Amino acid sequence: MSAVPPPDRAREREVMRALAAVEDPELPVSIVDLGMVRAVTVRGSRAVVELVPTFLACPALWMVESEVRRSVTALPGVAECEVAWRAGGWSGADVTEAGRRALAGAGLAAPAAGGEVACPFCGSPDVRPASPFGSAVCRSAAYCDRCRTPFEVLKDKRSTGGAAPVSGAPDVPAPVGPPAGGHPAP
Ligand SMILES: [Zn+2]
Repeated sequence: MSAVPPPDRAREREVMRALAAVEDPELPVSIVDLGMVRAVTVRGSRAVVELVPTFLACPALWMVESEVRRSVTALPGVAECEVAWRAGGWSGADVTEAGRRALAGAGLAAPAAGGEVACPFCGSPDVRPASPFGSAVCRSAAYCDRCRTPFEVLKDKRSTGGAAPVSGAPDVPAPVGPPAGGHPAP
């Protein structure tokens, strides 16, 4: 049995920097600013990136996963990258300030910690839902009564049926490919 190498903190910071350049395929925001990255561990030449999905049914998750693998394994010294999807639920409150500004530039709002939604254009809380369906499955449509502008809201665990997963569901299923922790393809 070989000894497990200790975590390589310097390389973990490099991985975080690489992740900060990975954008959500449907949003003009990096996955770091979206609050999707839960943890990064590097031991030896192997990196493990723990992510939470912004929206369980988002069909773009597999694109995020492959882009994470590609950019992390492009770093010198990292030969392997495992992407582990974690349950627990992403919420709009996980979005960073920089992420909020980038989303607002695209006319998108992320709910705050209490679920409140403010207009991404004028900041007014005087908004109302317009439709549960936006231009993508992970968005709903809303309307600002102050500046009279329609915008879209990123759905989070509160708007997707609550934080509790379907009873019996042990974890977030991997969007595609082998289960997390499985051996990567050669
Ligand atoms: Zn407004």
